[in-house]
Amino acid sequence: MNDIRTTCPYCGVGCGVIASPEGIVRGDPAHPANAGRLCSKGSAIADTLGHDGRLLKPSVAGRDADWDEALDLIAERFRRIIAEHGPESIAFYASGQFLTEDYYVANKLMKGFIGSANIDTNSRLCMASSVAGHVRAFGEDVVPGIYEDWDEADLVVLVGGNTAWCHPVLYQRLVAARARRGTRVVVIDPRRTATCEIADLHLPLAAGTDVALFDGLLVNMAERGGFDMGFVDRHTSGIAGALEAAGCSAGDIERVASITRLAQADIATFYDWFLGTERTTTIFSQGVNQSSAGTDKVNAIINCHLATGRIGRPGMGPFSITGQPNAMGGREVGGLANQLAAHMSFDRPADIDRVGRFWNALSIAQRPGLKAVEMFDAMLDGGIKAIWIMATNPAASMPRTDRVRQALERCPFVVVSDCWDTDTTARAHVVLPAASWGEKEGTVTNSERRISRQRPFRDPPGEARADWWMLTEVARRMGWSDAFPYRSPADIFREHAALSAFENDGRRVFDIGALADITDEAYRTLEPVRWPLPAGDNDPANGRLFGDGIFPTEDGRARFVPTRYRPPVAAPDRKRPFVLNTGRVRDQWHTMTRTGRVPRLMSHQDEPYLDLHPRDAVRLGLAPGDLVRIETAHGTAVLRARPNEGQKPGEVFAPMHWTDRFGSSGPVDRLVTAAVDPVSGQPELKATPARLAPVPTLWRGLLLSQTDEIPRDDFYCSRIPVGTSHAFEMRGWSPLPDAGALSAWARDRLGGAPDADLLDARRGIYRFARFVGGRLQSCLFVTQRANWPLPDRASIAPLIGKILDEETRDTLFAVDESACMAPPKRSRTVCSCFSVSVAEIEKAIAAGRLSTVAEIGATLRCGTSCGSCIPELEEILRDARVAA
Ligand code: SF4
Repeated sequence: MNDIRTTCPYCGVGCGVIASPEGIVRGDPAHPANAGRLCSKGSAIADTLGHDGRLLKPSVAGRDADWDEALDLIAERFRRIIAEHGPESIAFYASGQFLTEDYYVANKLMKGFIGSANIDTNSRLCMASSVAGHVRAFGEDVVPGIYEDWDEADLVVLVGGNTAWCHPVLYQRLVAARARRGTRVVVIDPRRTATCEIADLHLPLAAGTDVALFDGLLVNMAERGGFDMGFVDRHTSGIAGALEAAGCSAGDIERVASITRLAQADIATFYDWFLGTERTTTIFSQGVNQSSAGTDKVNAIINCHLATGRIGRPGMGPFSITGQPNAMGGREVGGLANQLAAHMSFDRPADIDRVGRFWNALSIAQRPGLKAVEMFDAMLDGGIKAIWIMATNPAASMPRTDRVRQALERCPFVVVSDCWDTDTTARAHVVLPAASWGEKEGTVTNSERRISRQRPFRDPPGEARADWWMLTEVARRMGWSDAFPYRSPADIFREHAALSAFENDGRRVFDIGALADITDEAYRTLEPVRWPLPAGDNDPANGRLFGDGIFPTEDGRARFVPTRYRPPVAAPDRKRPFVLNTGRVRDQWHTMTRTGRVPRLMSHQDEPYLDLHPRDAVRLGLAPGDLVRIETAHGTAVLRARPNEGQKPGEVFAPMHWTDRFGSSGPVDRLVTAAVDPVSGQPELKATPARLAPVPTLWRGLLLSQTDEIPRDDFYCSRIPVGTSHAFEMRGWSPLPDAGALSAWARDRLGGAPDADLLDARRGIYRFARFVGGRLQSCLFVTQRANWPLPDRASIAPLIGKILDEETRDTLFAVDESACMAPPKRSRTVCSCFSVSVAEIEKAIAAGRLSTVAEIGATLRCGTSCGSCIPELEEILRDARVAA
C-alpha cells in the first residue's frame, strides 16, 4: 500500500496529513490548510494508533453480542418506544468528530424517517452561537473568509481564543504573516495566554463583556464618521436599530471601560486601530461562542464589519474558527437540532417540504428538536426514553456532568457507539464498536469551508464498523431500506451534494452540486475543495463570499442585529466570589480518549490544575502545586493550584480535558453552569461563580502500576501514562491509617497484598512493592514529610512488569536521598517533540546567553519541529530577560 493522504482528526484547522503503511504520519505539503505543517497533537497522531483499549465487539447489557443481535435490538426498541411514546421520545447525540457522511445518515434517519428533530451534537458546545449569529446577519450559516485573509490582513483581532494552543498551525501562519508584513495583532481575552506573545495590544476584558466592547466600537465609529455608508445603504438593513441598541448597551469609552474593566486608553487604541485599518479580520472562537450571550457577541462583531463594509475582501471580515475537525460538515448536513439539512431551515415550510420530497420522507420533522442541554434535561424528566450517543462522551463533557450522568442512568435505553470505553459507554445498554481515524473514510470540512477527504489506511480492529454503516443497518431494520440504499460513503456523499443543489437556483450559498455525480474513483482521489461549488463551477477563482455585497436573505441585504450587553447569567457573589473559566491545553484533545494515551503529550501538562492570580493565591495561602478545593453550585473538585500572572484577579481557569479516567476529581464540566444562550442554546462554559479553599496536604504518594484504574478514595489522585505503565500522583488531606493498618491500605492501591515493604514510621516514609510471577506489578511510595522527595516516576516506570535483580529491588526501598531514585526536581516539558523541559531551557539560556528562539532551537532543538512550543519559548526568554 502507498502513502495515504488524509486529514488530521483534531481541530477545525483541518490540516492534511500523509500516513504511511508503517504508521508514520507527517504533514501533507500539498494541502492548502497547512502546507505540510503539523502541531504537537498532529505530529503525535501515530502514537495514538495502538489498539489498546479499543472496543472490539458489540455488547448488550454488558455481555458480548454479534452485530445482528445488537442492531436488531436497537431497531426493535426504537420501533416500540416510538409506537408507545411518539417519535419525540427518541434522541440522537452526535459529534463534530463524525465524518460528513456519518452525519448525513444520522440526520436523515432522525429528521426524515423517525420524524423528530431530536438530533443534536457536541458542536452545540463548540460553535452553535456562530451558526445562529451568521444566520441572523447573513440569512445563512456562512463563514465569509478564507485562511488567506490571515496572511493578508493588516490588523488581526483575535477574540476569545488561545489560537497558539487551540489552532496552532493557523497561529504559525499568522506569526509568519506578521513577520512578513507587520500585521498588527490585538488579543481580546480575559487571560494572558501564549497567543499574547504576538499581541501588540492585549485587552483582558472582564468575563462575558465582549458585547459591550464591540457595541462601543460601533458607536465610536459612528461618531467619528467611520462607517462605509455606501456599503451600508446598498447592502444592509437595520443600522439604526443596531446603533440605538449599541448606544444603550455601551455608549462612550468611559462606559465601556466601566463594564469591561479595561483601561480607557487601551480601548481607545483598539478603536483607533480598527477604525483606521481597512484590512481587518476579526477571528473569534470559543470565548465568544460558549456564553449565555454568545450569539449577541457574534453579531456585535459582525455589525462592526458590516458598518465598515469590511467583508468578503482580501484580509477583512468576521471569521469564526471552529474547534472540532468536522463541526462545519455537521452544519452542512443539518446536524444541529434546529437545522434541517443542506442549510435549509425549519423556519421556512417550503424548505421542510423540499427536503421531505428529496428524501421521499412522509414523516419528516416539522419543527426543531431539543438542543443538547434540553435533551439531557428531557431525559432526566422522562420525556426521552431512548438515546443513541455517537462518537462523543457527554458523561464527561456536558456542563453539570453529574446531572447528565443521572439522566443517562434514568434513561430506559442508551446506545453508545464509540472507539474506546469512555465514561459514557459505562452507562450504556448497548455499546457498538466504531471504526476510528485511519480506518474509516469520508469527508470533513474545515473552518474555511474546505472539504477534504479522510481516507483509511488500515483495517478496523475486531468487529469495529463505520458509523454510517451502523446507522444504515438500523434504518433498514426499521423498515426504510429504500431510503437508505448506501453501499459506501461515496453513495452518501453524492446524495448530500445533490440535496445541496436541489431546487437551489442560487438561493442557498451551500451548494456543492458540482460533486453530485462524482464517480467512486473521483471521490477516492478528491482533492481538497472549498464550497460553494455549484454544478458547472468546478474552479471558483475566489473562495471569499459576500465581496459583492449580496447576501442570502430575502432582500439580498445583510442584517444588522441590535445587541445589548448583559452580564453572564450567574454572577459571583460573597458566597462564590470567583469566576471559573474552562478551556483547552496545547497537547490534549477533548476528554483525552486519544491524546491521553501518549506519554509525550501528557508531559506538557501532566495533571489537572487551577490557574489563579498570584495575589489570590497569596490571600488564600496557596503555593504552586498546593491542593485547592473549588466549589460551584453544581459540584466540587480538588485540583493543583497554579498561580499565574496571566490570570485576572477574581477569575480562575481549569482545563476541560481530565475525566474520571485520569483524575479523582473527574471532569471539570461537572462544576460548570448549564445556563444557555437564548438563541443558540449554547451553554455558558466560561463564567461559573465559584468558591476556593486551600486543602492542607498531610501526605504525598506515588503509585506505579500496570493497570490504569484510578484508586477511588478520599484523596487527590491523577493518572499519568509513563512508557507502558501508569503513574498515579497522590495527595492526602485525611490522615494515613496507623502503621499497623497501612499494609492493608496499600493492598487496595496495589491490586493485591504487597510482597515487600518498608515502614519507617519515625521518619514517616512507607514503601510497598507487589510482585507477580517474580515481576514487579506495582509499587507505592508514601511520605508524610513535606521535604522528603518521592522517587522520580520516570526512573521507576521502566521497572514495572520486569523481573528485578536484587540490587534493583533494593533501590525501591532505599531511603537515602542520594540513592538512584532521589530525583532531580521535576520540571514541566515545553517541547513535546524533543522532550525539553522548562528547567533545561532556562539552564541553556543562562549558560549560553541565548536570546532568541532560534538560538534555543539550535542548542536544544525545541521549537524546530512542529513549532507549537514557540510561544512558550518566547515567554521563557521574556521572563529570563526580566529576571536578568
Ligand atoms: Fe491537527 Fe494541529 Fe492542524 Fe489542528 S492545527 S488540524 S490539531 S495538526
